[in-house]
Parts: sequence; C-alpha cells; structure tokens
Amino acid sequence: MEQITEKKSPKRLLVIGSSNTDMVVKIKSLPRPGETVIGGAFLMNAGGKGANQAVAAARLGGHVAFICKIGNDIFGQQAVQLFQQEGIDTTYVFTDADNPSGVALITVDEHGENCIAVASGANANLTPDDIVQAEKVVEEADFILMQLEIPIETVEYVAETAFRKNKKVILNPAPAQSLPKTLFQYLYAITPNETEAEIISGVHITDEHSAVAAARTIANMGVPNVIITLGSKGALLYTESQAAFMPAFKVEAVDTTAAGDVFNGAFTLALSEGRHFDEAIVFACKAAALSVTRIGAQASAPYRKEVEQSF
Ligand code: ADP
Repeated sequence: MEQITEKKSPKRLLVIGSSNTDMVVKIKSLPRPGETVIGGAFLMNAGGKGANQAVAAARLGGHVAFICKIGNDIFGQQAVQLFQQEGIDTTYVFTDADNPSGVALITVDEHGENCIAVASGANANLTPDDIVQAEKVVEEADFILMQLEIPIETVEYVAETAFRKNKKVILNPAPAQSLPKTLFQYLYAITPNETEAEIISGVHITDEHSAVAAARTIANMGVPNVIITLGSKGALLYTESQAAFMPAFKVEAVDTTAAGDVFNGAFTLALSEGRHFDEAIVFACKAAALSVTRIGAQASAPYRKEVEQSF
C-alpha cells in the first residue's frame, strides 16, 4: 500500500462538533453501580469528539477549521488555546454566556476499556443559527466531518446545506443514537462503530457476514459509502462497488478513548488529500492504532511523522 507522505493539493477540512474537558481516572477495574474503586491516577485532558477529530486531522497535516461552542470559563479557554497551538482555525468557536463548557468523566481500566459520562453544557447549544454565522468556513470547506455530541437539528442543517453546495459530508454517528431517515441522503460517508451500526441498521453484528449485512442496510438508507469500525478487528469498507475488511494494526492497547475519533480525523484528512477509500482506511487504522497505545483523547492523537514511521 502506498504511504501517504506527500500532500497532493490539500483540500479544506471543516470539523463541526463538541469540545469537552475529560477528567480521567485510570483504575484497575471499572467501578460497578454503587461501588467505589480506590487507587487510580488522575489526568485532565482536552477531549470531546469534535475537538478530538479536529486535532487528529490537524496533527496529520490537515488544513482544519473547527466550529464548536464553549462556556465562558477556563476549560473552554484552555481548549481554544490548544486548538490554536495545533494550527486549527478557531474563528468560529462560539462562547455561550449561559452554559459551562462540556465535561466528560472517564474511567479507564487496566485493559484499556473505558466508561464515560458527559455533561454537554455549551455543546448542546450549538445551533443552526451559529452555523449561519459561520457560513464563510462552510463555504470554504471541501470536506465536513461531524459527530452527534451537538444537537441533531444542527447536524441535519449542516448536512443538507453542505450537500446542496456540493460539499462532502462525513458523519461519525457517535455516541450511538437512531437518526432521522432524511439525514442519510445528504451524507457522502458514514462511519459508525459496531454498536452504532447495529442501532442504525437494526442488524446484530456477530461476524463478517452480519457486518456486511448491517453496512448494506445503512447504504440502502441513502449513504454511498459506509465504513464500520470494528475495534481491534479493524474496519469494514462498504461502497457501491466493494465490501472489504481492513485489519487493525497490532498494538498493545493502553487506552482506547478516542480511537474512533483519531480514525475519523485521519480518514477524512486522507480523503481530503485525494486518497481512495481503502488507502484512507489503512492510514486511519494506523493512526488509531497508535492512539490506543497512549492515554488521553486529543493527547493520544499521533503526528504525521509518527504514523509514517510506524508499522
Ligand atoms: P470507537 O472508538 O468509536 O468505539 P472502534 O473501537 O471501532 O471505534 O475503533 C476505531 C478504530 O481504531 C478501529 O477501526 C481500529 O482501526 C482502531 N482500534 C481500536 N481498538 C484497537 C486496538 N485494540 N488495536 C488496534 N487498533 C484499534
């Protein structure tokens, strides 16, 4: 497989989504309801699916703008500083006067398995009106990447307007929820993980055959390109012309937080550089594999050189 070493007329990438501060406790085993588990290490990291994906794409060399909404507080201000350090265009990071910045409480066990509770705060207030104000970056973008930690009305508004302007809209439908039927026709690609694919398709995924059946069902809802990420098993690419499984790269998993986010940022970045779907997925699997060897969300996203020098 050809390495992605050289940028061919890079296109502009716009990420629209959440920014959270992740409060992480790394602990031997995840607490059950009512249980207190003592002995963990605490870390505070910049996170949020939108921000993670924007940072992942920027670190890999993308020309990235990010639209999100933060609270008027120290968490939000720190997040924006980090975006700027990564070279992300933050012109349309909105500030909510009435709600705090988003926060996620995360526990990670010794196998890298995680458990996450999110207080959305300002993220839940990123409205279609904000997107209208940010029309300039939407106009400039070639690829638009979104997730579901912002209001679904906003996702729908962006998808429809961007589609009508011939932009390529990629939806990472996470966290898992069922989606309005009218949304699919505006998407260029959708990238659910196994759970999300099951919820959207209604197909229980147990093996390769059922994964393809789930992808086909989602494609029939109107999305031409379906990518189901399958954790340590890799990813399935399902398009009008092919169904192909791409294996994950073998690594020792330390923390799988944001594996999907790094995958999505890397995948969209590779597409924006003109790569074919299968090449983009291999690149994304490499970047995501590196990210699971490290603790944190944005902190675990690799730089381009690291991806190129690994595997
Ligand atoms: P999410 O984090 O959204 O649940 P997945 O668990 O499917 O998404 O992971 C996304 C991608 O990250 C996978 O397609 C794979 O490429 C990579 N990945 C996840 N877990 C591992 C792992 N243990 N080893 C190697 N790669 C992994």
